[in-house]
Order: sequence, then C-alpha cells, then structure tokens
Amino acid sequence: VKYDEGNIFAKIIRGEVKSTKIYEDEYLLAFEDINKSAPVHVIIIPKGQFVSFCDFTSHASETQISYFFKTISKIAKKLDIVDSGFRLVTNNGADASQSVPHFHFHMLGKKKMEEKLL
Ligand code: 5GP
Repeated sequence: VKYDEGNIFAKIIRGEVKSTKIYEDEYLLAFEDINKSAPVHVIIIPKGQFVSFCDFTSHASETQISYFFKTISKIAKKLDIVDSGFRLVTNNGADASQSVPHFHFHMLGKKKMEEKLL
C-alpha cells in the first residue's frame, strides 16, 4: 500500500496541524488524541512512513521496531500509568476501522476498563 503524505498524522509530524505533544524525538512522536476515550489517550507514531502495523513490522528495521516498543514503555512511565495499568491498541486495516493511514498505537489509561476487548 502506498503511503499518503496528506494524512492527518503526517501533517502533525510536519507541524502543519497542531497537537498536544507528550513526547517527541527524532524517530517518534506521541500526542493526545483529539477525541479521548480515557483520561489518558495518547497516539504514538513512528515518524517514518508506515501505513499500518503490518507495514511497520514488515518494512522497518529491527532497530526501529525495538526502539519504538521500548520508547512506548518510557512514555507509559512518564505518564505514570505503569502501576495503574494501561491498554495499547492498534487498528490495522478496514475490518478494524483504521481511520488514519499512518501506523499508530492508542495508549489508554487512568480509567478502569470493565469491558475486555478480548
Ligand atoms: P484509528 O481509528 O485510525 O485507529 O484512530 C485514529 C485516531 O486519531 C482517532 O482516535 C482520532 O480521534 C484521532 N485523530 C484524528 N484526527 C486527529 C487530529 O487532527 N488530531 C489528533 N490529536 N487526533 C486525531
């Protein structure tokens, strides 16, 4: 699948659309979801051009993948949700209703989620 450089998260990375940033470095960005499902609802994205989770895991380097996951843990520590707990979700493709075609995780916390998704 070809990456669409006009997607909203690409615009956020380029600074064309404002976001409330939680964490940023050379390789990834975390910002608050505009439509929160929990008191903590952060979107975490690599800055590289990956359409989905499968695109990322297929085409990013081992270093990029491992750095991405380790940094997610650091962000959870920074948000103080390691002990209280949190949920990480990625929607991959049409059946999951992925709406933004730039790979992202949702990090949800500070809310007791009674319903298990699975
Ligand atoms: P998806 O459905 O692709 O997994 O999730 C996309 C998420 O991006 C949604 O939760 C939506 O609220 C969020 N979102 C869409 N547009 C914007 C935006 O312009 N700014 C921010 N901060 N979040 C957005």
